[in-house]
Amino acid sequence: MARYTGPVCKRCRREGMKLFLKGTRCSMAKCAIEREKPAPGVHGQRRARKSSEYAVQLREKQRLKRQYGMQEAQFRLVFKRALRRRGVTGEQLLQSLESRLDNVVYRMGFAPSRQAARQMVLHNHVTVNARRAQSASIELKPGSVIQIKDRSGVREGVKRCLDALGNAPVPAWMTRDDAAFNGQYVRVPTREEIAPIVNEQLVVELYSK
Ligand code: SF4
Repeated sequence: MARYTGPVCKRCRREGMKLFLKGTRCSMAKCAIEREKPAPGVHGQRRARKSSEYAVQLREKQRLKRQYGMQEAQFRLVFKRALRRRGVTGEQLLQSLESRLDNVVYRMGFAPSRQAARQMVLHNHVTVNARRAQSASIELKPGSVIQIKDRSGVREGVKRCLDALGNAPVPAWMTRDDAAFNGQYVRVPTREEIAPIVNEQLVVELYSK
């Protein structure tokens, strides 16, 4: 699967908001958004013109897609699956994205970013229900247990991440055992429990055209 390998902060600058793609740097003064860097490109410093309806929908979709570090084809596939499910499509889409293995590892605090979490899975440092995780994009079922393998280098990195989190609680829809380096994805999060970074309804409208 193709993946984006360009400058990461450029994506936040394009969206004009923090997408939290770089771990600890995102909460530091060095963050490009904190430093109020303009949007990339020669026209980045121009005053924004009034956006069309399509442009607003497109930006929302790009924000969501980039936040989860996905490419267009993969993202569209997740949307199609959400469309087939019962319930509100936008909510189903967000819940599918939150249930991805790389996201759950990140939300548990075992990795500083989704990208780092994906790398841990791809390098075979993570098991799901005591079995090797085949892909970082698998959608977890409620009750799945995530375990970080007992490899010194990896666990040291994970411990640093957990220390950086301090006493911050894990989201209510999962549990974590710091000493055992594992956690459980207990249930699907509700819409209110997913940080409302985008208006998902606009994404649904865009793809429904
Ligand atoms: Fe985005 Fe993080 Fe870079 Fe800030 S430091 S621009 S939040 S990726």
